[in-house]
Amino acid sequence: MNEELLRHIDRLIAQRPASRSALIRYRILACLMQDIKPKTISLSEQKIHRGMRNKEDFPLFAGQQDLPLDYETAETLLKRFLETLRRTGRKDEDGIKKFAQKAGQDHCWVRELYGAVLGKDNTRLTTMAAEVDLDPSVLLFLTKVSLRPCFQALREAVKEILNKSAWGHGICPLCGSPPDMAFLAATGRGFLHCSLCGEAWPYPRIKCPFCENEDRRNLGFLGVEGEEGFGVYFCRKCLCYLKTLDMRAFEETAPFDIEYLATLHLDILAAEKGFE
Ligand SMILES: [Zn+2]
Ligand SMILES: [Zn+2]
Repeated sequence: MNEELLRHIDRLIAQRPASRSALIRYRILACLMQDIKPKTISLSEQKIHRGMRNKEDFPLFAGQQDLPLDYETAETLLKRFLETLRRTGRKDEDGIKKFAQKAGQDHCWVRELYGAVLGKDNTRLTTMAAEVDLDPSVLLFLTKVSLRPCFQALREAVKEILNKSAWGHGICPLCGSPPDMAFLAATGRGFLHCSLCGEAWPYPRIKCPFCENEDRRNLGFLGVEGEEGFGVYFCRKCLCYLKTLDMRAFEETAPFDIEYLATLHLDILAAEKGFE
């Protein structure tokens, strides 16, 4: 699985010049995930929101704090990231060293960090970033990536019970987070990809997942000249946008967290048009 991930990253490094440096940085982290195996999740002991299975309006896990993730494994991976990154001569090397020191000494601080990331507590995250002299976006990114194998294990564990086709909402049916990308499957059906756990679920193509606006006059699509398959859906009502891949135009696509990094040219395009 991980070799497959590295193959996709290498392919995209060659194909997507605007995202090259972001992908090269991610590749270092992907190599460190190779032998990481989160513990098996026993769902019988978990606080699952049964409403979801009855086609009601609740994600499978009621709150981010209820997500059954193997934090011990995530923490091991995070420390591994920091040990490697502190020696790569980054501009923010001092901050990375402080982060590594803090993570090595203060287990409770690391748990609090996971809480802030999962709960999207930006105020707390900014304070914690200042404590180690790092940009909050760097702290968020590394912490989130350290959860990747655990989220992968969780998605696998709930596969049988997650009724995605009955879910019609703009937030993730598994964890309740908003999407970070959309894609059209080989059938032409629209899907959203979760910004936190990586789950994907079907969603109407002509509807904004952020404000549920369905009025075609306020919705639009930006294509990329000469690059079939790439696009940006936008909503004039809430000024949000979603990067989109039409899988019918590509021979293969990478896991969507990688595609998210590999489509920075679409973020630039959306920003130029005034979308956030
Ligand atoms: Zn999710
Ligand atoms: Zn909207």
